[in-house]
Amino acid sequence: MSDPEPTATAVAEPPAAAATAAANPPVGTEPAAAAAADPTTRPAAEREPVGARDGFHRVVVLGSGPAGFTAALYASRADLAPLLLEGNQPGGQLTITTDVENYPGFPDGILGPELMDKMREQVRRFGTECKFEAAVEVDLDVRPFVVRTDENVYRAQTLIVATGATAKLLGLPSEEHLMGYGVSACATCDGFFFRDKEVVIVGGGDTAMEEALFLTRYATKVTVVHRRDELRASKIMQDRAFAHGKIAWVWNSVVTEVLGSREGGVEAVRLHNKKTGADSVFPTQGVFVAIGHQPNTEIFRGRLEMNDVGYIRVREPTSRTNVDGVFACGDAMDPIYRQAVTAAGTGCRAAMDAERWIEVQD
Ligand code: NAP
Repeated sequence: MSDPEPTATAVAEPPAAAATAAANPPVGTEPAAAAAADPTTRPAAEREPVGARDGFHRVVVLGSGPAGFTAALYASRADLAPLLLEGNQPGGQLTITTDVENYPGFPDGILGPELMDKMREQVRRFGTECKFEAAVEVDLDVRPFVVRTDENVYRAQTLIVATGATAKLLGLPSEEHLMGYGVSACATCDGFFFRDKEVVIVGGGDTAMEEALFLTRYATKVTVVHRRDELRASKIMQDRAFAHGKIAWVWNSVVTEVLGSREGGVEAVRLHNKKTGADSVFPTQGVFVAIGHQPNTEIFRGRLEMNDVGYIRVREPTSRTNVDGVFACGDAMDPIYRQAVTAAGTGCRAAMDAERWIEVQD
């Protein structure tokens, strides 16, 4: 998800959102007025059953990867009728991967998109409302919190941030210019278009190895370009990649330019050898960038505590953030493990923390 920077000005609302907003105190409403309309501050007898009312939800989950769906699963089974906003990439990063072999319970592996469809189906079964919308602005200084999407405005007693991470790019103008014309950040999505062609993959981590192996199904040759002479990938992935006859290696090198045109596609990459200082042109018909990920936390910048890179800081071992009532889980807060199963685990934590937090408020 690459949400834009939060803005101080209110986002223009389409008619549907205007109806929601009319029934709710808009962002910036006087606290007393907001409190009067807030179902959580009214006496218990007057309160609605838990769940949605006029855009109000006990729990709003942002994100639809394993963390978000697991949080929603636990929150819905706790009868909190959560709203889950799926974000810009419904199903999250696993929807752009193929076989998932390390998620427990699937001895033969499972396709990433299929696993995410199952998770969505499971949370709906217990009453989660899933919407294909992305939060573009949040206000964590009012209670309930306000979450705006391009379509609607929602109010949340608690917020679970499970916005995940997005693939990083090299930052070259030529890479941007040729993105979709021979440059890609997703082998699973685009590998098919490179049948019988030679491609380059940039990166030395597990993603690069996985994507290099995947691309061998289509390409005649896959050359891994890595900036060091040692891979970061796990031993098993390295072994598989080294053993594959279609995979070649260029060490200590970075791509400084992608050569080609939108009409004719990619023709070559310009390489710079960091050890020798030599520049060269390496012919290729495709470039896949697999150099890691950036957490999707931009809309929380300046309000939620984060590290330098943008991973949200939580009060370990809980999922609590520096804002009371806001919980974070998954790749948005995990710079270390970043696995589907660890994301799911932290999603469970976040829902349980939110549930306990709501109990104390009530
Ligand atoms: P990663 O582990 O952070 O690796 C990123 C790679 O890209 C590194 O080799 C890095 O080089 C290189 N790189 C970063 N910025 C670069 C730049 N500007 N130019 C050139 N190269 C650059 O990211 P990842 O591979 O996406 O993996 C992320 C996490 O997911 C890891 O924990 C990984 O184990 C996990 N994962 C697991 C699987 C699996 O088990 N099947 C599959 C995919 C991912 P340096 O090595 O020099 O830093």
